[in-house]
Amino acid sequence: MFVADSMLGKLARYLRIMGYDTAYQSSYPDKRLSELVMEGRILLTRNQKTVRLYSDFIFIDCDLVKDQLKVVDSTLKLTRNQRDWFTRCLTCNSALSKVDTEVARENVPDFVFFKYPERILLCPTCKRFYWPGTHRERMVERLKDWGF
Ligand SMILES: [Zn+2]
Repeated sequence: MFVADSMLGKLARYLRIMGYDTAYQSSYPDKRLSELVMEGRILLTRNQKTVRLYSDFIFIDCDLVKDQLKVVDSTLKLTRNQRDWFTRCLTCNSALSKVDTEVARENVPDFVFFKYPERILLCPTCKRFYWPGTHRERMVERLKDWGF
């Protein structure tokens, strides 16, 4: 869906939180960014030089992630459906998958397992486990405050 340039790490993270497939690297080797654009991803950039190389992009000209999300949202309406949120690994961008009860039990803290046995997800690529909790609630609150 998206590729964010190296200056837009926070924005990429929030787009992943909302469930969007968002490629992001803190630095891109030569040509990697253009390869990702060629794959059909929408380029998000705040770099004037990058803009000159592409015909299609969303230019982000603000610093706060809240405002950056609004720029993307005003171009392409972003989802308000919380069922889409937290379906993607925030670190590597892979889609999360459900895990076996036994695997979940062995890999997350006991209180998490007993509280959310059905809601534990695994990143198939980097093997991180994800589950609901206060950290996630804070991110949801923040997104709601921002109008999502
Ligand atoms: Zn991952």
